[in-house]
Amino acid sequence: MKKVKALVLLSGGLDSILATKILKNQRIRITALSFKSYFFNEKQAQRAAKELRVPLRIIDFSKEHLKMVKKPKYGYGKNMNPCIDCHILMLKKAKEIMEGKKPFGKLRATKFHFVATGEVLGERPMSQNKKALDLIEKESSLRGYLLRPLSAKLLKPTIPEKLGLVDRNKLLDISGRSRKKQLELAKKFKLKDFPAPAGGCLLTDPEFSKRLRKLFEISPDCRRNDIELLKLGRHFSENTTKIVVGRNEDENGKIKKIAQKGDVLIEMENYSGPLTLVRNYQKTKVSKPILERAKKLTQYYSTKARNKKDVKFTQ
Ligand code: SF4
Repeated sequence: MKKVKALVLLSGGLDSILATKILKNQRIRITALSFKSYFFNEKQAQRAAKELRVPLRIIDFSKEHLKMVKKPKYGYGKNMNPCIDCHILMLKKAKEIMEGKKPFGKLRATKFHFVATGEVLGERPMSQNKKALDLIEKESSLRGYLLRPLSAKLLKPTIPEKLGLVDRNKLLDISGRSRKKQLELAKKFKLKDFPAPAGGCLLTDPEFSKRLRKLFEISPDCRRNDIELLKLGRHFSENTTKIVVGRNEDENGKIKKIAQKGDVLIEMENYSGPLTLVRNYQKTKVSKPILERAKKLTQYYSTKARNKKDVKFTQ
């Protein structure tokens, strides 16, 4: 019989690792697919693919993803995570690859029989309830070709199951938020190293989400550089201006590299301490009171200079 080929979305989290394992155990030939954006990278997926011994392809969809994050059709989760839209975007790409329509490295001419994910029915209240799973399948145009091995027995049989390409009896019926069954399976498969769910996505981080929400508010056309700045330092806002104070030498270096035309950089001349970046998103000159505040913050976050009266600044 011709080899059955599946394209599996692998984030590197436990669920997607288990989904891959379950299909691999049915002797299905797996190619893992992962994505990188400004908010998550491919590192976890690379580790998992190595451990699972499956080939991994990575798509950098940063720009397109940011555009979606700014205005998700189906809204955000608990933080700034637009998980439904994010899944749809990934699965649309997966569909193009499955059909062999999109040039894809060495896989140019390869077609896959179906796409699989590690989604679990009811695990996440917003993006993995029955309605959301149906919606994701419909919007990604993968009707019938999207298999969720961990919850398959609770969902309608997919085309590869109906055709006998996948043995439905060997798929699972996991649902709900408890991770008990997944952890038992991880033990059974002797998996040791797996990250927490959604652990690699900054959009699920409350503190980062707060910063991002503010950035979208004051700079709707923000780009990569602005997002990268959100990952660094302590942040203070003054209307449309942001003050970012480096927390250590490494961050000071990164802040310096990220600075662009119009930004003001402040540091102390006679004491060691943070490098502070001031960025006005209205692209006008930074006002004097804001510069004074930035200097005070720079001094405050230097243990050596905090109570000194002779601090000199360069800007
Ligand atoms: S947690 Fe992040 S990467 Fe995962 S679906 Fe949600 S937005 Fe996308």
